[in-house]
Amino acid sequence: MRRESEKLRIRRQLRELFRSLDFALDRSGSGKGPAKDQGRFAEIYQQLGLAWELLGLQCRHWDGYRRTREGRMVCRICGKVEGAGETWLVLPGEGRKRIGRMVTPASRKTFPEKRAATVLEDGIEFHGARLGVRVHHAYESSLAGQRITIAAERSVTLRERGVRCSVDDQLVVVRLEDADGRAGRRRFGGFPWELSRRVLRNFPVILEFDDRDRFLGLTIFRPRQPARRPGGPRGRARDSRGGARAGGPSAPAR
Ligand SMILES: [Zn+2]
Repeated sequence: MRRESEKLRIRRQLRELFRSLDFALDRSGSGKGPAKDQGRFAEIYQQLGLAWELLGLQCRHWDGYRRTREGRMVCRICGKVEGAGETWLVLPGEGRKRIGRMVTPASRKTFPEKRAATVLEDGIEFHGARLGVRVHHAYESSLAGQRITIAAERSVTLRERGVRCSVDDQLVVVRLEDADGRAGRRRFGGFPWELSRRVLRNFPVILEFDDRDRFLGLTIFRPRQPARRPGGPRGRARDSRGGARAGGPSAPAR
């Protein structure tokens, strides 16, 4: 029932808008009245056109499409051309907001370059938090003169108050953003059992697991200040730059 009333409301609003559009169009190029007024009506027509575009976003094209004299299929309610791209989004002010759908790299092909392989690269700033989604097929790239294949991937990054958390097919990475800009500092990394207690005390991390020793999650306490590192690393910490993965290159896709 709610759907029906929504449809009726939009249809009524669009009908009123179409009347205003006709009115403005009629007076903008009619030759009647002073040229200044005609110019003003042309402007109003443009503004109403934007209102049409925005109002039309709420239309779910409930009644299907009809064929125009030019042979195009247009919605019976909002008049939009079937399958035409939309440059604006409409979201409910309250309740769940949904933009787009889950996209994963579906092609098994390896593309010659990054741009052609990109499926989606989009982001949103939502009440101060920044969210980015990047999806690409496998593509060829060069690293130090070598041709390598970057594997297909979907990666999602959330940024919130100096913390960046990215999730992709292989890894979940949490990083302090100011750590990237800390000039002159070397980076180290290691599995927890490789680090000394003294180092671990600087960044308390709780690892959670169940009674069958399966990983459930982890909690990281936000450090109040950057960890001091007098005299370099201790224990068997290793340089994270030498790790298995430094930002992408991986085995060729199937
Ligand atoms: Zn429609």
